[in-house]
Amino acid sequence: MKKVFLLSLLLCLTACASGDIKNHKLPYWNKLGERYTADLNMIVIHATELTDMDEAREYGERVLYESGTGASGHYYIDRNGSIEQYVPDNRIANHTSGWNKNTLSIELINLGRYPNWYHSDHQIMQEPYPQEQIDALIILLNQMIANHPTIKYTQGHEDLDTRKIASDNDPNIMVDRKMDPGNHFPWDQILANTPLIKVTPEKEE
Ligand SMILES: [Zn+2]
Repeated sequence: MKKVFLLSLLLCLTACASGDIKNHKLPYWNKLGERYTADLNMIVIHATELTDMDEAREYGERVLYESGTGASGHYYIDRNGSIEQYVPDNRIANHTSGWNKNTLSIELINLGRYPNWYHSDHQIMQEPYPQEQIDALIILLNQMIANHPTIKYTQGHEDLDTRKIASDNDPNIMVDRKMDPGNHFPWDQILANTPLIKVTPEKEE
């Protein structure tokens, strides 16, 4: 009996360590709007376009709106696969203009176009995604689908926000407002290892 208990404890410790999510809620998380998780339908994939987790945190904590909240994803995955949760699933995070209400968002730590996001000569996503980061993402996606079975769809930020803006260096040259997660992101792996489909659901907000 004791042996069985110890064995299951050991198994749990191993399994729990691999799917471990650090709870690291943003200071304003309880000012974000509440929602029913049964209304969730899509997971949006992002790249931070910043250097590291510390810088992502700093950006996430910035208060940008009158409500006392800012812009962030729900989950952040570092290059080594470690995961932090900034916003609870039942709160609406500000991550994709027009698509926040019924979506969860995952941010991958990745340079993207950093630090010349809107320079017309720098419109390239610079950094590939390490396999450790993608493996952690696949585990997290499957966990989220298990927790919220109404989630059927996934898209990248770039697929949902296709607006162009004038570049920093030349007002006559337009550049993409959002390019994340970008051309390095392995959609084939994500779609092969989760039940998600890469389709935009009907807009509900
Ligand atoms: Zn994004």
